[in-house]
Amino acid sequence: MAVTPENLFFAPCSRSNKENTFPQFQNTVLDGIDPDAYDEAPDFDHDRISVWGVVSGNKAKWDHMRPGDVVLFYTKQRMYTHAARVVETQHNADLARRIWTTYDEGRRVADLDEPWPYIFYLDRVEQVDIPSPDIHADIGWDTYYPQSFTRVIDRRREKILERYGSIAACLRHHRQDSSVEDPVEADELTSELLESDTAEPDLTADDDEYETQRRRTRSRAFRDAVRTAYDEQCAFCGSRRETIAGTPEVEAAHIYPRSENGVDDLRNGIALCKFHHWAFDSGWATLTPSHEIEIRDKPDREAYDDLQQLDGKSIHSPAQERHTPGAKFIEAHREFHGFDD
Ligand SMILES: [Zn+2]
Repeated sequence: MAVTPENLFFAPCSRSNKENTFPQFQNTVLDGIDPDAYDEAPDFDHDRISVWGVVSGNKAKWDHMRPGDVVLFYTKQRMYTHAARVVETQHNADLARRIWTTYDEGRRVADLDEPWPYIFYLDRVEQVDIPSPDIHADIGWDTYYPQSFTRVIDRRREKILERYGSIAACLRHHRQDSSVEDPVEADELTSELLESDTAEPDLTADDDEYETQRRRTRSRAFRDAVRTAYDEQCAFCGSRRETIAGTPEVEAAHIYPRSENGVDDLRNGIALCKFHHWAFDSGWATLTPSHEIEIRDKPDREAYDDLQQLDGKSIHSPAQERHTPGAKFIEAHREFHGFDD
C-alpha cells in the first residue's frame, strides 16, 4: 500500500451525444495500443498498453496524477463500468494526434481540434460496474454523472478514506453491494460464520435450508468469511494478489464440495488462489489430518512440478484454531478423491 493515498479520477466516456468518446475508450483503453508502434511513447514491458488523455482545460487535474492513482470510466448511464490504474503520464500533442485521430465513423470531431495531449498510461483495466450515485453519495455529490474529467478533491476523498480506509476498499464495497440481494444480511452472515461455536458441524447442508434467492447472499458470506479467516492469503502458496478495485484474487474453496452439498462452515472452507483451488477441486491435491498438503503421486505426468514442490508442506493456517480445516471435511475430501484407496 502506498503511504500517500491514491488520487481518484472520474473519466466520462459517452456512448452517445456529440462527443461519443466510447469508441476511443474501446480502442485505446480496453484494447490498448502497441507502444512499439509509436516512437514517442515510453518503453513498456508489455505488448499492449492502455492509454487515455485529456484536453488542456483539464491540465490542472492531470498535473496531480501519479502512478498508482485510480481512474473510473463512466461509459453507461449511472455506471462506472471500468477501473484502471495509472502507470505513467506524458504530455505530447503529436503523439496524441496519432493515437486518437478520427472516430465517429471516420468524421473528425470538434474535440479533436485539440486532441488529448495530456496523456496517461494505464494497467489493470477491470470491469467494475459501480453505480455512480452510490460513489457520488460517498463524496457528497448529488448528481449521477461526472460533468467532465474530474479529480476527486482532497476534502471529498477524505470522506472515502474515513469511511472505507482506502479507495480500493470503497470500490470493492460498491461492487459487492451491487452483486447481492441484501448486503447487510450478507455482512451479518459473514460475522456469524466467523463467530460460529465449536459444536461439531454436519458434513452436508440440507438444501432446503438455502432458498435459491438467498443462495448468492450465503455464498458471498462464506467467501468473505473464509477470505477473512485466512487473511486473504492462499493456504497453499501464500500469495495475496488483488485486483485494481481491491478484490482479493484468493477464492474460498469448500473442502467437501458444495456440489455434494458440503456445508458452509469455516471448518469446511479453505482460501486458495485460482491455480490451487483448481488443483484442490480436481483432486490433484488434498490435506492430511495434520494440515499438510498432499499432492497426488503421478510419476507418469511431468507437468506438475509446481504442485509436487508443495507436497508435505504445512498450509498457511488461519490465525484462529477454530477456523482451521475440520478433520471430518479433510477425511471426506480424501475419500471423495480416492486418496486413501
Ligand atoms: Zn496458491
